[in-house]
Amino acid sequence: MRVLLLTHSSNDREAPVRVLHDLAARSDVMLSTCDSLDAVSDGQADVFVLHSASVTPVLLERLNALHQRAPHLPILVVLADGDIQQGTEFLHHGAQDVLFAREITPHMLRQRLVFAVERAAHAAQIEQQLQIYRAIVDDQVDLVFRYDTNFRLTFVNRAYSQQFASTPDAMIGDQFLNRIPAADRAHARWKITQLNAEHPVTTSEHRSIMPDGSVRWFQWTDRAILDDSGAVIEYQGVGRDITEYRAAQEEIRRTREQYRSLLESSDAAIGMLDLEGRILFVNRRAADMLDQSIDQVQGKLVSDFVCERITGDLLRDIQQVFAHGGGIVSETSVTLGDDVRWLRISVQPIRDAYGVIFAVLVNSVDITERKHHEVAIERSEMRLRALLAVDEAILTGKSVREMASNALDHIYGLVPFRRAFICMFNESDDGMLRIAARGSEGLPLMPDDFFSLPMPIRRLIANQPYLLVRDLHEYAETTLTNAIKDGLNAMLSVGLKREGRLIGVLSLFAATPDFFTAEYIQLAVEMAHQLAIAIYTHQLDTRLHQYATELEQRVIERTAELAREKNRIEAMFESSSDAMLLVDLTTGVQHANTAFRELYGADMISVGTSLGNLAHQDDLLVMAEALMKTVETQGINRVEIRARRADGTIFYAEIGMAYIKQSPQESPSIICSIRDVTQRRESEQALERALAQEKELSDLKTHFVSTASHEFRTPLTAILATADTLSLYRQRMDDSQIEMRLQKIRQQVGYMKSLMDDILQLSRIESRGMDFHPTEAVLDDLIRDIIEDFESNPDCAGRVRFSRAQTTPVTGQIDSQMIRHIISNLISNGLKYSQSPSPVDVDLRTDAGYAVITVRDYGIGIPSSDLKHLFQPFFRATNVREIPGTGLGLTIAHEAVKAHGGSITVQSDMETGTTFVVKIPLRA
Ligand code: ADP
Repeated sequence: MRVLLLTHSSNDREAPVRVLHDLAARSDVMLSTCDSLDAVSDGQADVFVLHSASVTPVLLERLNALHQRAPHLPILVVLADGDIQQGTEFLHHGAQDVLFAREITPHMLRQRLVFAVERAAHAAQIEQQLQIYRAIVDDQVDLVFRYDTNFRLTFVNRAYSQQFASTPDAMIGDQFLNRIPAADRAHARWKITQLNAEHPVTTSEHRSIMPDGSVRWFQWTDRAILDDSGAVIEYQGVGRDITEYRAAQEEIRRTREQYRSLLESSDAAIGMLDLEGRILFVNRRAADMLDQSIDQVQGKLVSDFVCERITGDLLRDIQQVFAHGGGIVSETSVTLGDDVRWLRISVQPIRDAYGVIFAVLVNSVDITERKHHEVAIERSEMRLRALLAVDEAILTGKSVREMASNALDHIYGLVPFRRAFICMFNESDDGMLRIAARGSEGLPLMPDDFFSLPMPIRRLIANQPYLLVRDLHEYAETTLTNAIKDGLNAMLSVGLKREGRLIGVLSLFAATPDFFTAEYIQLAVEMAHQLAIAIYTHQLDTRLHQYATELEQRVIERTAELAREKNRIEAMFESSSDAMLLVDLTTGVQHANTAFRELYGADMISVGTSLGNLAHQDDLLVMAEALMKTVETQGINRVEIRARRADGTIFYAEIGMAYIKQSPQESPSIICSIRDVTQRRESEQALERALAQEKELSDLKTHFVSTASHEFRTPLTAILATADTLSLYRQRMDDSQIEMRLQKIRQQVGYMKSLMDDILQLSRIESRGMDFHPTEAVLDDLIRDIIEDFESNPDCAGRVRFSRAQTTPVTGQIDSQMIRHIISNLISNGLKYSQSPSPVDVDLRTDAGYAVITVRDYGIGIPSSDLKHLFQPFFRATNVREIPGTGLGLTIAHEAVKAHGGSITVQSDMETGTTFVVKIPLRA
């Protein structure tokens, strides 16, 4: 044994050192020494002894470092002095044993050294085994893990850690129950805690949560690891992921369940048989068919339950399936009491996983119904073919007789009667008409064979689908006697009916009473039905054809009549002196007559043109309204509008619109008649104008006469009153008073005279105005002459001033009398309505062919509100006060200007005076 000693004591004589030296000297102990802990390494010795006098943290730390560096080197500490607690400190820092120097004996030291070495060797061995265990466990595909009693992992193998996407080291200490979903957790925990020395192993399946959140199924075998006393120190779990396995199991279970329910719910009897015909499995239907319970038949031979013939057939099929591998399907009938049932039996091989046939699946379906249907379909097909042939034969017949005889020929092919006939009934007289008859090979028809049905039979046929008489002797007394004589005994009569009416009969005769089987009857009924349809249709066709021919004839006649009518109307339309149009209200003008083209112009209108084109734009609305009214009332309307010709000229037209009633399918139309009423219209208008003028004139005259009378009445009243005063009081008056009154009378008479003059003047101008005759005159001279007249009056002398800008005299075609009156009146007014010696300025000039005469004063002026009445007869402005006047002067002047075709305007201001401007054209 190699012992390495490190002593912190300098004294070689100290007990432990001495004891060690003694041991080395006397036994197999090889002692070597060293000076520092850091120099010690693993393999340097079998055991390392540290002789220390005391415990220091530095020493403990370095000792620990040594243990980490050399974990397999046993460390023995000999404490020179110290207590148990200090010794324990060393044990915690890597020492395996601690001795106290004071207790040490050579024997004990040796023993402890040997023990340390052995234990180190033992530990190394255990570790090696552990490595092997770990290697084994790690290589396992199964998940292996260990956990303590708190369910914390103490070990996991690689497979386990990989399953949970981790590493073994990272998983140690994990609470593994957390990986079990909460629902399963309590149960898993309970199962583990039940483990003990008696029942140390348990197996369970539960789910675990994977790191990605998915849940997988595992099967676990948990084992309790016990100490010597049988107490649990640890558990070991071994498990595997059985998610796929479980899914497969579940799938198998489900599939098996499906098959089972499929088999059970199947209408077919299904069984599984082996080569010998032993029943391995049957479904309920199969057991029912054998009249046994499932348990009763299972394991028995099929021959125990099924008749020999079928067993024989079945075994033969089974052997063949085993031999050749293909399935076999066969149909067979079984007699069950009175009932014959048909079965469709299919034998199919069942193979094991290696493809070897180990059994057969026998599937038996009752196809009796289908067989019956097949037979029925076959029969009805045959009948249908026959019926079709009859149908065709009937339809190819060109007459009712031919149809009936074709039908009889074909019926004979299906129903071999001895004799047959077809009759039609006459509606009116109950008569019967034979239209076809046929004998058979054994009994051909004779020319004198008589066919007729007695009345009672006809009635019976009418009310029922057919009449079957098995023994004709029942009708021996009737027309059927002949048939009996010919050896016929049975008769089948079927009515030919249409729309509930009996139109004829098909009668078949046979010798034997039972000849007419149900099938024959049905055939006869069907054929009679077809024949009735064909005959009826043929009759209808014939009638329809007749009707169509008649109709066609009528249409031709009517068309011709209509054509004549049309021609007449067209001739009338064309020859009308009024312009006429035929207008379709949806598509426009359809036709225009010659008068229209003459009135409007040839290009005015074409087919389809709108009626609106005829009217002047401003009268379109009137036209449209009239059109609407015509359509609404569906009557006749008249309207007068301005019409427009093709060349754009306008004329007055009176348009008459008449609605043409059509059938509801046709769009409504109207006829328009258009007449040019321009001339009439113009003369009407001229007449209207003349009437208006006349009325105006008469109104004016009436007004004038009443005003003039009033104007005369005032001075007359004054004269009369003054004259009366004179005659009454003349005696009491002196001469001057009388003279004053006479003067007043003279004054009033003078006023009346001037009034009279004015009125005469006015009427003269008015009458001459109509007959105006101008003469060449020089205006300058005329004006000068007028002014001279005023100059001769001392009140006016020197007040009138005439100015002439131009030197050339103004000459024109004028009525000098009238012009004189105009200018005199204007000058006299200017003088009268201004205070003497205020002047009156007269100016004459020419302007664009007009003589312009201006008369201006600086007098009282005219109120602006009076200006517009100035030229009315007898009108006087409100500001004239005592200034005498008649109010006619300007009226006369105005009329005179008008007669010349000139104008007179006034401009006046109450402050500055009045200016009249007269413009007279110089050339009339
Ligand atoms: P009269 O005989 O009353 O003058 P007129 O027809 O000549 O009749 O004139 C009509 C009225 O016009 C006069 O009464 C007067 O009120 C007014 N009038 C005409 N000329 C003048 C004028 N130059 N200045 C003011 N008022 C005038």
